[in-house]
Amino acid sequence: MEFQGKIALVTGASRGIGRAIAERFAKGGATIIVTATTNAIEDVAKEISSKYNVEVLGVAGNVSKEEDVEKLFNIILDKFGKIDICVNNAGITKDTLSMRMSADDFDAVINVNLRSVFLVSKAASLIMMKQKYGRIVNMSSIVGMRGNIGQANYAASKAGIIGLTKSLASEIARRNVTVNAVAPGFIDTDMTKAISDKAKEDFLSMIPMEKAGTPEDIAEAVAFLASDAAKYITGHTLVVDGGLLLR
Ligand code: NAP
Repeated sequence: MEFQGKIALVTGASRGIGRAIAERFAKGGATIIVTATTNAIEDVAKEISSKYNVEVLGVAGNVSKEEDVEKLFNIILDKFGKIDICVNNAGITKDTLSMRMSADDFDAVINVNLRSVFLVSKAASLIMMKQKYGRIVNMSSIVGMRGNIGQANYAASKAGIIGLTKSLASEIARRNVTVNAVAPGFIDTDMTKAISDKAKEDFLSMIPMEKAGTPEDIAEAVAFLASDAAKYITGHTLVVDGGLLLR
């Protein structure tokens, strides 16, 4: 029960990687707040709560909107009075070649993937600095390190997360708050189901471990960075990709 007594927020936890992270913290005994864009998140919260016998609160909202983030943190503080772990996981793709990409689709991906990390981390770190304890983990991607055809908006957002992570880590390290990122490779979720079979085959053929990762593989890396075992690690980006970045 490594996370007993901890209050953990996971954004974008209705499915895929976010849900696996929420379940990993639940397994460790944490109290969890999960978010997604619709009220369906309340059912997800109930399911996780009854499976692991921990308190789970579902809050609907758009993490790229300042007023929604403010509401979310008011709820967290009213109900729990603190936040120990904050995982910025919510993300979207709107893939197409740069020359065909609209400015609106560029902005949409930057807003949901990167602006949200700024807004949520800012709110969380204000509380964590006062507590003199906190763990922030941001979901980047190896695409933010190597780029990818058709993903200029997504790659920019995920590279931005790495820069934000390093900057915030330096700013608040002295208050015992760590800020790290995880960079997954190719993980089997709804997000990657949208990719064409050909692109999927190309990705899989490049992975030295010859298979896609699972949401649970990413959840374990997040749990490590949020645990006491990682208390002297900050500003780091942990790649979890079966070796894909080596190619
Ligand atoms: P997913 O299955 O598409 O799930 C995305 C989650 O984000 C959903 O819970 C979704 O909620 C939520 N979300 C989307 N927009 C939001 C918003 N504006 N406000 C709040 N929540 C929002 O994606 P995934 O594959 O699990 O990916 C999770 C994270 O890992 C993302 O940041 C992604 O970029 C990153 N990642 C994934 C891979 C991969 O191979 N899958 C690789 C590298 C990095 P709704 O249910 O309401 O839509």
